Amino acid sequence: MKFTQPKLPYAPDALSPIISQRTIDYHWGKHTKAYIDTLNELILGTAYEDMPIEDIITHSNGKLFNQASQAWNHIFYFFQFSPEPVKEPRGKLYEQIEKQYGSLDELKKLIIEAGIGVFGSGWVWLSADDNGKLLITQGGNAANPMTDGLRPILTLDVWEHAYYLDYQNLRAEYLKKVWDLIDWDIIGIRYE
Ligand code: MN
Repeated sequence: MKFTQPKLPYAPDALSPIISQRTIDYHWGKHTKAYIDTLNELILGTAYEDMPIEDIITHSNGKLFNQASQAWNHIFYFFQFSPEPVKEPRGKLYEQIEKQYGSLDELKKLIIEAGIGVFGSGWVWLSADDNGKLLITQGGNAANPMTDGLRPILTLDVWEHAYYLDYQNLRAEYLKKVWDLIDWDIIGIRYE
């Protein structure tokens, strides 16, 4: 088995009540694990076996792309959270947000709107381009902005399995509350 599921940097109940232990148990323990397990099955004995996961994402399509991208997306999503997050961006990321959006609240508002606007399952992303400019994008299913040459720095999962146990059908409520778990020092490191 080539790719292994990392251990989360917080206890399974540490993000509760915004993301409950039950959601962690299913979303990380079952859904994410299944994407990684299936990815490992699909690459076995193929040219993809020795590729970094990012290269698999940008060089595959169909079922393999879906599994590789979903594995990467979920690890990226879960590792941006902290039970005691730094709640404001600092340094270069702070400056870029102020320059482009005027305030963190405005950026959050636009990301929430983009997340609400995803029809069906998918993701909303904050990424940077080669010049450090920030972009908010949406994608259906397993989409990842790396395939458009962007560098993701933050993502919110808007598949129902991300919020249904805690918020039922209220995707907007989940999108509004989840900010209290996002550690902006992690996002800042990804940006720089
Ligand atoms: Mn998910």
